[in-house]
Amino acid sequence: MNDTGRASVIGSRIGRLLAVAIVGLSFSLFAAANSQPITVPGGTLSLALDPALSPSQQEKVRRWLQETALVVSKISGQFPIPIAHIEVKVASYGQGPVPWGQITRGTPNGITFYVNPEQSLRQFQQDWTGVHEFSHLLIPFPGSADIWLSEGLASYYQNILRGTQGILTEEQVWQEMHAGFLRGQKDAIQKDRPLRELSGSMWSTGSYKRVYWSGAAYFLLADVRLQKLGSPHSMASVMAGFQACCRMLPQEWNGPEMILRFDQLSESDVFSTLYGEIIDQAVFPDLTEAYTWLGLDLMGGRLEPDSATKFKQRRLKLIYPHRNQ
Ligand SMILES: [Zn+2]
Repeated sequence: MNDTGRASVIGSRIGRLLAVAIVGLSFSLFAAANSQPITVPGGTLSLALDPALSPSQQEKVRRWLQETALVVSKISGQFPIPIAHIEVKVASYGQGPVPWGQITRGTPNGITFYVNPEQSLRQFQQDWTGVHEFSHLLIPFPGSADIWLSEGLASYYQNILRGTQGILTEEQVWQEMHAGFLRGQKDAIQKDRPLRELSGSMWSTGSYKRVYWSGAAYFLLADVRLQKLGSPHSMASVMAGFQACCRMLPQEWNGPEMILRFDQLSESDVFSTLYGEIIDQAVFPDLTEAYTWLGLDLMGGRLEPDSATKFKQRRLKLIYPHRNQ
């Protein structure tokens, strides 16, 4: 090897090192760009994205997170908490774009999502997990005994908000919700025990469907009763009020305390009355009142939304509480 040869070897080594450095630098610049916080009205999402995600996958995940956080912000006009820490990991098992999501109740509160990054943006947008988990941030955790309240709120909004977003049509919102209620009813018949008992023992009794969908029925019934009263309040205004007065207070809440506050915020006794009606019943909450008011007719087990204007307006008011109709 002559000097020239050695020089060219050294040169190519330097070239390779430079190339590696440039690639590394651009990668870290990119990684930094993609871990940039996402801002939405009233809140910031700090992000920790799995480095295994490709640049385009990171872009897709960021867009999905932003859209989901935005629609949850629409309930009150502001994201539920000032800062949420969002961690996204590649799922090693499970189907769909987001096989698993979990609230992290640290400081700040946040969410860990396990995703299948190969799935399309459209599939991410249609999935319910994101909007369910983000909706959990609306209220503090009321404790395992009252987990029906927490899961009920998230299950109610996972359908309502996909309607607000235009991901589901108005009719699909009710079909999806009804399908959930049917699963809950079936589970209630099998378990034949009061919601109060099953909420506290949800994990050991496997009563997820009963607990989640009884809670969703509670919030649908509450939203409908406020509407029936001609009240200026709605679930959305109660959530806005709760955010303003209470969400970030350094205190623990149980279900009855939260329900009392919802009554105060809605200037009614809708929430406590409804709680009294369902919590010690071994049967699934009766939805007849809500379905009749909303013009949701059951025909041979299938839900048929009545197209008459008054019914349609009542239903749309739940999906778009801030829109003047
Ligand atoms: Zn949940």
